[in-house]
Amino acid sequence: MNKPFSPRLVYFEPKALDYPLGQQLLKKFENSGVEIRYTTSHNQIRNLPGENDFQKYRVAKSTLVVGIRKTLKFDTSKPSAEYAIPFATGCMGHCHYCYLQTTMGSKPYIRTYVNVEEILEAADQYMAERAPEITRFEASCTSDIVGIDHLTHTLKHAIEHFGESEYGKLRFVTKFHHVDHLLDAKHNGKTRFRFSINADYVIKNFEPGTSPLAKRIEAAGKVARAGYPLGFIVAPIYLHEGWEEGYYHMFERLDAELPDEAKKDLTFEFIQHRFTKPAKRVIEKNYPMTKLELDEERRRYKWGKYGIGKYIYQKDEEEDIKNHLYSYMEKFFPHAKLEYFT
Ligand code: SF4
Repeated sequence: MNKPFSPRLVYFEPKALDYPLGQQLLKKFENSGVEIRYTTSHNQIRNLPGENDFQKYRVAKSTLVVGIRKTLKFDTSKPSAEYAIPFATGCMGHCHYCYLQTTMGSKPYIRTYVNVEEILEAADQYMAERAPEITRFEASCTSDIVGIDHLTHTLKHAIEHFGESEYGKLRFVTKFHHVDHLLDAKHNGKTRFRFSINADYVIKNFEPGTSPLAKRIEAAGKVARAGYPLGFIVAPIYLHEGWEEGYYHMFERLDAELPDEAKKDLTFEFIQHRFTKPAKRVIEKNYPMTKLELDEERRRYKWGKYGIGKYIYQKDEEEDIKNHLYSYMEKFFPHAKLEYFT
């Protein structure tokens, strides 16, 4: 996906129009000529166009709902941060293994929340409770926030808010390259901008509707030049034919294409591919032609929260992945910090 996201259908909660951002978005979408509808609640979108679930799912993924975030209690977000900060829910990307497929269930449309000041005030309270400890907030637990921020500039506002905070830090990860409007945000080094990257085979086969790797790397260079601390999440690390070379090549490209500024303060996070039984059912329904390997017999079962365990790679495969990726990281980025492997 090279063009920034533009919704095919937009819903407004009437109360969203009490907020300046709600008004701005209404004007923007009226001018663009997109169909606008109203809904009493962002949780109650029904009658989406489409003749069957398959079509409705695709329409939902290009539908934007402008609403108000009522719950201002934040979820925790280990291991990358203390809390998840909720600016939006949903994503227009079509990654086959996306974690949102199970968490969003029957509501795959994209929701953006216009009561940004209230959300930031709640964040301030969380920070105050933990001060003088630093509190990290993860903004991409429920969406790819960068992918829709050219429409709302909510993330930009949050970056500047955390830039002024004493004890707060912001982080997020993206598969999109539409970062230009964020380059002049006054971040004061308090926001870590991360890109999700993968081997070519994985991006080509399982990440439709997201930016190509070259664009992500180019955007990472811009972000680093703008002084943001930078990071990469390699996820999901997926075993496929030639995966050793695939991931080697990915690191080689990163090294060749990133400017030197980008290499000074780099972090990596490594997440191996996993799935749950409910996720497998949803993936097979939404992407029936997927080549994604989801064979429980070939995996190791790891007990999880709420009795829903996940299927991860066998111990020897996991060791193999670690050995390869750690050695590539050390070869190309000896000063980078590995935050975790999971
Ligand atoms: Fe999900 Fe991220 Fe892909 Fe969006 S870009 S579909 S949030 S994995």
